Amino acid sequence: MARDVPEPAATFHLEDGITPFEAVNLLFRGAADRLGLGEGERIALQTPYRDLMVKIPLRTEDGRILTIRGYRVQHDNSRGPMKGGIRYHPEADLEEVRALASLMTWKTAVVDLPYGGAKGGVQCDPRELSALDLERLTRRFTQRLEGFIGTHEDIPGPDMGTGAEVMAWMVDEYSKFHGHTPAVVTGKPVPLGGSYGRESATGRGLFFAVERSAPDFGIDLASSTVAVQGFGNVGYWAARFLAEAGARIVAVSDVRGGIHRADGLDPDAVQETVRREGSVVAFEADGVRQVDNEELLALEVDVLVPAALGGAIHKGNAGDVRARLIAEGANHPTTPAADEILRGRDVVVLPDIFANAGGVTVSYFEWVQNLQQFRWDGERVDRELAQTMRRAYEDLRRVTEEHETDLRTGAFILAIERVLQASRLRGLR
Ligand code: NAD
Repeated sequence: MARDVPEPAATFHLEDGITPFEAVNLLFRGAADRLGLGEGERIALQTPYRDLMVKIPLRTEDGRILTIRGYRVQHDNSRGPMKGGIRYHPEADLEEVRALASLMTWKTAVVDLPYGGAKGGVQCDPRELSALDLERLTRRFTQRLEGFIGTHEDIPGPDMGTGAEVMAWMVDEYSKFHGHTPAVVTGKPVPLGGSYGRESATGRGLFFAVERSAPDFGIDLASSTVAVQGFGNVGYWAARFLAEAGARIVAVSDVRGGIHRADGLDPDAVQETVRREGSVVAFEADGVRQVDNEELLALEVDVLVPAALGGAIHKGNAGDVRARLIAEGANHPTTPAADEILRGRDVVVLPDIFANAGGVTVSYFEWVQNLQQFRWDGERVDRELAQTMRRAYEDLRRVTEEHETDLRTGAFILAIERVLQASRLRGLR
């Protein structure tokens, strides 16, 4: 019999039947083993605090009646209010939202922000909705969430498929119930309490992470070569700051394909083409050749920045990677099986929960500014971001050396220790 009720999206699997949440927990367990954590504590730390799944009915401007699933997973609040973006994506599913929520717990702990972790997803294709549809959808989703989020509870932000406009609608809707509350979401437009420097924050943070760590791995940034998969927000800004530091950006890509130029690409010129033509593949200059995404991942470069999707580097292509350092701009771009292959080949990986933490760090600065009702200038935002990323790298390096392990395991150890310490002090575990 045909089902009338829409089912949640099929659970996404990375490879070998493993879901993204299981993949994060596999990494968690590797670190928990080294810390000698007992079964009880492991389960307590891995289990989400709250999983919300809601129905969002929507009558679109063109007359369709849609029933859309919305999720908010709140993973842990031992260290402070929970924090994490909301993505609008046709394949948003609960398991992936859980994975991303738990990554946020570990990420905020690695960079020592006074936050826990959360994530949201709405199973829709924003490209098939008008601006008015998106506004109605966002307002209705906010109505479903308003009793569960809050300035000191859970603070959403933008993610894939959402941006400053969606955040503005969320603040407006939430404020109808609770009075003017700009600090309930971050990533807002600047005139509505957004922070200077938020747009470039993740790419800038990734640049600081590479700048700080490169000398430890014998890489001189000023004479290095870089390839970037996913020339979107994170990829463009990372490329731009790395190029400013003297690195040669030899290849960039997007969903349509990639381009390579041995003498280096000017990120701003490529970005101009993307703005005009919609893709990097339309960029023309002397010495530019087309490459596909798989070729890009296999280029012989000093630094590879995967800044597109989860699972981009998997067991089928990890053996082809010839980069010396991978700086993870995307969330979980490397599967656990690929991670092992890379470790065996001495490829250094700056893990996502450190390398892309610049975004949530500036979101934290936005929240602080909203609470203080005092705006920082862009220079202060950048200075504080640099300090946060550099301090996090020092902590990460210390823990990694102490435990004689790789940076990803080190990052999980650092994060778990911090979350555990907070929850023990609070008498929770
Ligand atoms: P974006 O939408 O601005 O850019 C994504 C880019 O990846 C686009 O150029 C797109 O064409 C490309 N892409 C999509 N599918 C691809 C594929 N199959 N192969 C190659 N390229 C592909 O998104 P963004 O904000 O830059 O985010 C990128 C990644 O970074 C995501 O995984 C996101 O979760 C993560 N991230 C973003 C932030 C942030 O502040 N924006 C913070 C932390 C992590």
